[in-house]
Order: sequence, then C-alpha cells, then structure tokens
Amino acid sequence: MLDITKVNIEKAAKIIKSAKHVTAFTGAGISVESGIPPFRGDGGIWGKYDPKILDLPYFLANPLDSWIVIKEIFYEFFGKAKPNNAHKMLAEMESLGWLKAIITQNIDNLHQEAGSKNVIEFHGNSKILVCTNCGNKELINKINLGKLPPKCEKCKSLLKPDFIFFGEGIPQNAYQQSQSEVKNADVFILVGTSGSVIPASYLPFEAKKNGATIIEINPEKTNYTDEITDVFIRAKAGEISQQFIEALNTKNND
Ligand code: NAD
Ligand code: ZN
Repeated sequence: MLDITKVNIEKAAKIIKSAKHVTAFTGAGISVESGIPPFRGDGGIWGKYDPKILDLPYFLANPLDSWIVIKEIFYEFFGKAKPNNAHKMLAEMESLGWLKAIITQNIDNLHQEAGSKNVIEFHGNSKILVCTNCGNKELINKINLGKLPPKCEKCKSLLKPDFIFFGEGIPQNAYQQSQSEVKNADVFILVGTSGSVIPASYLPFEAKKNGATIIEINPEKTNYTDEITDVFIRAKAGEISQQFIEALNTKNND
C-alpha cells in the first residue's frame, strides 16, 4: 500500500533541501506531546480554568487571585514539561543549516530548551516576568513564587509573566523579525497550529503571498490546509520527526 505520509515527508525533504531560507511557524500542538494541552478543544486549559485571569484589567485589579491560577498552570504544570522529538527535530535542522528561524506562538520556552537558537517569540515567554510599573525583567527561577503576587526587585510593583495577555499587542521586535522572515522565506513549515489566533495566523498567508512553499505537519486539517498548504503531512509531529530527519539526511530523494 502507498504510504502517503512517507511520500509527503520525502516530498517535503526534497523541497527543504533545495530551499534558500526555511522558516518554521509553530503553535500549541508541537508541545502537546510534551504534556502541555492546548488552550481550546478537548482537554484544553480553558475547559478547566477561567481565561479572565489573563485579561490585563482583571489581572491588575485582582493580582493575588490571578497569580494563584497563573502559578498553577504556567509554573507548576507547564514548568515540568520537557522538549519532545518535534522540538528536537527543529533544533537539529537549524544546527545542520536547513532551518533559519522558528516563529513560535508558544510561551513555554521548549524550543530553546531543545537547543534552537533563532527563536522569535510572537507571544512572549512564560520564563520571564516583567514589572507592570518600571518594565524591569526577571527570570522566573530567581523569583520565589511561595509568596504571591511576586514583586519587582527594583520598585516593588507587581510582576506579570512576560507573555501577552488578552488584548495586548505583539512585542515589537518579534513582530518585525517575523515580518522579515515572511519576506525572506522560500519555505514555511507549519507545525501544530490551527491558525485561529490573529494576528499570528496571518503570517503563513503572507509568506505564501510572497512566494513561499507551505509544508504543514498536523494530525488534523487546519485553516491553512485547503487554502495554502502545498505538502500536508497528516501526523503528530513528534511521531514523524525521526523519519523527517532521515529523509533530509538521505542523499537523493528522487
Ligand atoms: P491551537 O490550540 O489553536 O491548535 C493546536 C493545533 O495543534 C491543532 O491544529 C491540533 O490539531 C494540532 N496538534 C495537536 N497535537 C499535535 C501534535 N502532536 N503534532 C502536531 N500538531 C498537533 O494552537 P495555536 O494555533 O498555537 O493557538 C493557540 C494559542 O494558545 C497560541 O497563541 C499559543 O500562544 C497559546 N498556547 C500556547 C501553549 C504553549 O506555550 N505550549 C499552550 C497552549 C496555548
Ligand atoms: Zn519595577
């Protein structure tokens, strides 16, 4: 029987090998196999918790209540997660020269922990806290979360995780770097993103408009699949990573 996943992996590998500038765009799905559930859908975080804790006005008015839940989700639960084979595959692709950058919507730091260097964090990072008054940034592992809410060392004001809350703008640097990837990439690899959170979700469409070939890895169809995807690898990312790297390492895919 024709193994369509294998055929598509080989097709994708061939495209990547002849590309000049490959960029990956990742979402919550790439971390599912690390044990971090997505926000929405079956088993999603918002099935259990109220998303209002990540609403900036609510957080500022109720810092203690918000921090109790934030600590539980992002530092006790997410905090224990380790990179999986899909994060490692992208790190390896970068070190072998096949991948220039990752634009991630994730805030879990797992790409960096897997060894990726050029990671553009479109929504920020949970491992850093930022002061709501003076903008001072502190690393989470220097902060005692035994005493909530955590306060800025410099000005004693409230600290907030340095990822964007609902309604907040995209960090300027990340936005600009992403635009430059969109302009320069001739291949975009989408991994584990449904394409439903704007403005991040526009990036693959913009890349396609600029001529990029779109490779997508996802066990389900997404907003991209029937619109812009050229090669759809319908699979869990961690499960095909090994095969993907092998296809890239094979001298000839003809
Ligand atoms: P999403 O939840 O909208 O979509 C997840 C996608 O991943 C789905 O299309 C699903 O089919 C796919 N998927 C599930 N398991 C997979 C696997 N093993 N391999 C590959 N794909 C898999 O995620 P999104 O598009 O990133 O949007 C959600 C928003 O929530 C983002 O803004 C993100 O910042 C945030 N978020 C981040 C984390 C994290 O940091 N790990 C976790 C939850 C949510
Ligand atoms: Zn401060």
